[in-house]
Order: sequence, then structure tokens, then C-alpha cells
Amino acid sequence: MVRNFLILLCVCFINTISAEIVNIGVLHKKKITSFIFSPQAGNYTVYTNKGKLTEIDNTEILELSYRNNLIYIKSLDKDYGAFKKVHFIGSSVGNTFKIKTNHPAGSIKNYEDNLIVTIHTYYRYLQLVNNIDIDNYVAGVVESEVGRRPPVEYFKLQAIICRTYALKNIDKHKDDGFSLCDKVHCQAYHGKPKSDLIKEAAIATSGVVIVDSDINLITATFYSNCGGQTANSEEVWKRPLYYLKAVKDTFCLNENNAVWTKKISKEEWSEYLIDYGLPKGSLEAECGTEYFQNCREQYYENQNVQIPFVTIRKDWNLKSAVFDVIPDGNYVVLKGRGFGHGVGLCQEGAMKMARTGYSYIDILHFYYEDVHMINLESLAFFKADF
Ligand SMILES: [Zn+2]
Ligand SMILES: [Zn+2]
Repeated sequence: MVRNFLILLCVCFINTISAEIVNIGVLHKKKITSFIFSPQAGNYTVYTNKGKLTEIDNTEILELSYRNNLIYIKSLDKDYGAFKKVHFIGSSVGNTFKIKTNHPAGSIKNYEDNLIVTIHTYYRYLQLVNNIDIDNYVAGVVESEVGRRPPVEYFKLQAIICRTYALKNIDKHKDDGFSLCDKVHCQAYHGKPKSDLIKEAAIATSGVVIVDSDINLITATFYSNCGGQTANSEEVWKRPLYYLKAVKDTFCLNENNAVWTKKISKEEWSEYLIDYGLPKGSLEAECGTEYFQNCREQYYENQNVQIPFVTIRKDWNLKSAVFDVIPDGNYVVLKGRGFGHGVGLCQEGAMKMARTGYSYIDILHFYYEDVHMINLESLAFFKADF
């Protein structure tokens, strides 16, 4: 009796977690007008706006094409007609399918769970939406964003961050008819991950998200390398968030993106500063161009000129906003540290911490101050109206 109750409890728990489904606009903006759908694992039932159409397995393929504001479906030996909307629903857990676009021609992509095909109301092409369990999606994002090399403990951390981001931004593409796109605009997502370790990390952290002291999902920002010190959120995006505070980070100092250089002609650099109000001719002496940014500073200051480092980074397309300016003959050399905006988690530092033996919980608290990990069920409980 007790055993049965526990099994029932477990089933309820699993159902609650796996019920979290997201709609991801895939191959977004590719303007697809024709593609092939074929099941890879499990059977798929095809529904249209007119009801159930057919069932297909991995021996069958369907071609969908856009014409005259309708979606035409055909198999190798049958025309099914034209529809407004098509759903491919997997019959079981672990369903995967393959997509090959014909117009425009594209490479084969593998996705998990379900697919919804509609017509983009404004641009008139096929809109593909992967209707997918959030943990499957999170695993795909982790592999797309960070590759397959980092240690498992890091995969777990990145899975929690990607899940938190997805749920916090769930309405980002509401007007397009889905939740998030598959580009870096939201989170890079290239479909089913190849790594079993990443899959296991997403499942091991299933349902876990990061919240602030008011139990709101945090803005879980990350970037490649902070160069030794992370940034306060207000230095980059104006808005202060208490958990996105500058921390000294020695873990990333010897990693791939720790340092960079950029050489610019002295003339170009002078003209740039003159545009910002530096008096003409004041840079002729070499000492007028030298600048050392010992720790992360907000403004480059030279005589009467004050330019935010984040602005210089944008104007010159620099890897980071942390750099020294060193005169070198007719040039100035920008010697920089880190890669990315510097707010929140430093990926290369976090990977080094994971390789050194820190748990994903330790790493999370190192980069995000005073945040909490919470299960979605608990979040729903705290956010419920009583
Ligand atoms: Zn997007
Ligand atoms: Zn760092």
C-alpha cells in the first residue's frame, strides 16, 4: 500500500515536471517554403486544422510546401491536400524527427518531441515551432551555447541558467506565435544534443531554476571571460540588480579568452577622441595616449574627455571593455582582458572551478550573489494566490 502510494507520488511528480513544455521557433527567419519531415524515433500522428490526417513511422517521409497561403502535404505516393496548420505529435517519450529544408536548401536538423507548422501571417512562409519538453530543450541549448567539452558539473550549472532564462523570457516572441527563437537573440538552439552527458545534466537538474530574494526568476546573464573581475549590471545596462555585483575572479586568468590586443593607428585613435571633445593636437605627446585600467573602470578619462568603456568597446567592436592603451610608434595598442560584457557568470572561470572540483552550487553562488535554487513546483507554490 505504502509502495503504491510512493509510486503514485513519483508519477505525479514526474508528470508535473515533464508537463513544462516550451514552443521554440526553429530555423527562425530562414523563410522556409518547403521542407521534408521524417520521424527518427517513435511514431508521429499528423493533425491538421481539419482533424487527424495520418500516422507515420521512421520508414516514411512527408513534404510540406507553402503555396497561396496554404500548407500542401504529400508523401512519396500520395497528395494529402492543403491546410492552414499542421501538428506532428510524437506518440511516446523519446520521439525524435528530422527536418531537411528544400527551399531554401539547408542541412539536416534533428529535433525532439513535437512540431507545429503554421504560416507566418505577415511574411508568408512556413513557421516551424518545436513543441518540446523544457529539459530536452535545455540540453539542446547547453550543447549549442557551450559545446561538448566542459565538465559535467558545469553542464548542470549551465542547464539551470538556460532553464531560468527560458522561463523568464517565455513571452519574448509572443507576437510571432511562439516563446523563444533558436538564435542568440534568445538562446542558441540547434536541436537534439549529441552529448549524453549534457542530456543527463539537464535531467539531473530537472525543474531547478534560480530566484532572487523576492522569489523572482533572476536575469541569469553569462559571457565567456571576465578578465579577472566581473562587472556590476548597472555599468553595462544601467539597471542595478543586487545579485549581479562585481567579484574578483582569478579562475579565468589563464583561460583561452583571458587576454586580447588590438592595434589602431595613432591618427585614428586621436580622431576618435577629438570627436568626443579632446582638444586637437593634445595627443601629440606619447604620454597623452597612455592609459592603464588596473581594475574594471567605468570611464576612460583623458584631460576633459570622459567616455564610458562600454561605449569604446561598442564603437571599436572590442572583445571587452577592460583594456590598457599603450603607445607604440605610430600606433596605439589596446591590451585587453576578458571576452564579453562581464555581468554575471564568467563561463571560462566557472569551467575552471568545475574542473578544480567545485560543485555547481558553489560556482553559482560565487558569480550570483545571494540567489537561491528552487524547484519549479516550489516556485508555483510561492507564487500561488492564496
Ligand atoms: Zn529570439
Ligand atoms: Zn572570470
